[in-house]
Amino acid sequence: MRGFFIGRFQPYHFGHHEVIRRILEEVDELIIGIGSAQESHTLENPFTAGERILMISKAIEELNTGKRIYIVPLEDIYRNSLWVSHVRSMVPPFEVVYSNNPLVIRLFREAGFKVISTKLYRRFEYQGTEIRKRMLNGEDWESLVPRAVAEVIKEIDGIGRIREIANRDA
Ligand code: NAD
Repeated sequence: MRGFFIGRFQPYHFGHHEVIRRILEEVDELIIGIGSAQESHTLENPFTAGERILMISKAIEELNTGKRIYIVPLEDIYRNSLWVSHVRSMVPPFEVVYSNNPLVIRLFREAGFKVISTKLYRRFEYQGTEIRKRMLNGEDWESLVPRAVAEVIKEIDGIGRIREIANRDA
């Protein structure tokens, strides 16, 4: 069975990591969609699709599952009623969707897919908004993401980028 899981992953954190670890116990293969792929260099969406691919593929390698994983960037389309078709046109075929995002769940259920709701883990900390806030304020963010993700963010000077964008906005 091939599963599908989508997120923005701004950045990829331990909440995503735990969900994916558990999904991989249930499926033979997993497609990870990188949503809002067109977005980058904003406070809400600092990282490019390519940078998010790096974060996810390196972090997942450390899970050592041996299962095949496809990481596919997906641009938003501004028509929710057509979104499932858009996703299906861009990724390998899949039978089951994993999500905790109400809109994603609703759209895939309406399209007739089996959708399994995923659990939240330490949602207070393991949350993109919280992590980006800590990056901006010089607080500890590294403990909230897999080591491989922290390395990618340093390699691309992600913290410098977020702070410069914030200054430009001010
Ligand atoms: P996200 O990175 O915030 O979350 C991804 C998934 O991880 C979600 O299911 C979320 O519930 C889960 N998660 C987050 N924190 C967690 C934690 N601490 N513990 C466990 N699970 C946790 O991404 P998102 O915003 O949900 O991504 C959905 C994407 O789909 C967006 O890019 C959105 O634009 C896209 N989308 C696009 C359209 C359209 O183009 N019309 C329609 C629907 C969705």
